[in-house]
Amino acid sequence: MDINNSLVSRFYSQIILEDFSLQDQEELLKKEITIIGCGGLGSPVSVYLAASGIGKINLVDPDKVEIRNLHRQVFFQEKDVGRHKVDVLQDHIEKLNSHCKITVFKQKSWEINFDKYKSEMMLDCSDNFRTKYSLNEACTNNNISFCSASVSGSDGQIALFTNKSDYHSCYNCFFPEDGDIDANDCAESGVLGPTVSLVASIQSLITLKYLLNKFNDTESIFRVSSKDLTIKKNKILPNTSCRLNKL
Ligand SMILES: [Zn+2]
Repeated sequence: MDINNSLVSRFYSQIILEDFSLQDQEELLKKEITIIGCGGLGSPVSVYLAASGIGKINLVDPDKVEIRNLHRQVFFQEKDVGRHKVDVLQDHIEKLNSHCKITVFKQKSWEINFDKYKSEMMLDCSDNFRTKYSLNEACTNNNISFCSASVSGSDGQIALFTNKSDYHSCYNCFFPEDGDIDANDCAESGVLGPTVSLVASIQSLITLKYLLNKFNDTESIFRVSSKDLTIKKNKILPNTSCRLNKL
């Protein structure tokens, strides 16, 4: 079967969409992304994007599966407790889509040389500010697109920064570093599994659209509430006092 027939048979339901084409599917196969944090957000995001036909995914997470993860990190099972999350996800994805190449990194992202795991789009699925701020800085300095998501309680938020060389609006512009950046952890604030999946689905959708030049709401924040089931969108304006703003 040639590549086009193989793509059509596998991704038929995507390709017949009005705003999606066989060319888009071919484009996705050439894309490489990096997902930092492979827990409640990163595990469904990586599986959705691999299943959608992205060609290469780098997974970064030092953590092993714990029993307390299973209520929200639904791609892990009881038998996986004690295994590295990135290894479990790699096994799952390779069985799901053998055309998706997975590379795993079992360290904290800020302990690895950025050049080793960077790609054209970096997805922050972490649950801590140290990772978010260090990724934002690296992506801003390297002009790499950065999509950050987080969940706390019944609230989630997703924002995509293009980090173009002639325009500055970054995570730090909207959330200036303040106080103890090692505070906060989604396990500490409590969270429901479907809330995390909801945010992960939106982050996956934004990623697919952006990679195919179909996403216009960059430099905007989407705030999701699973309490009243609403999504609100606001533009993130450049902050002239942001320490990363060199323009
Ligand atoms: Zn900034």
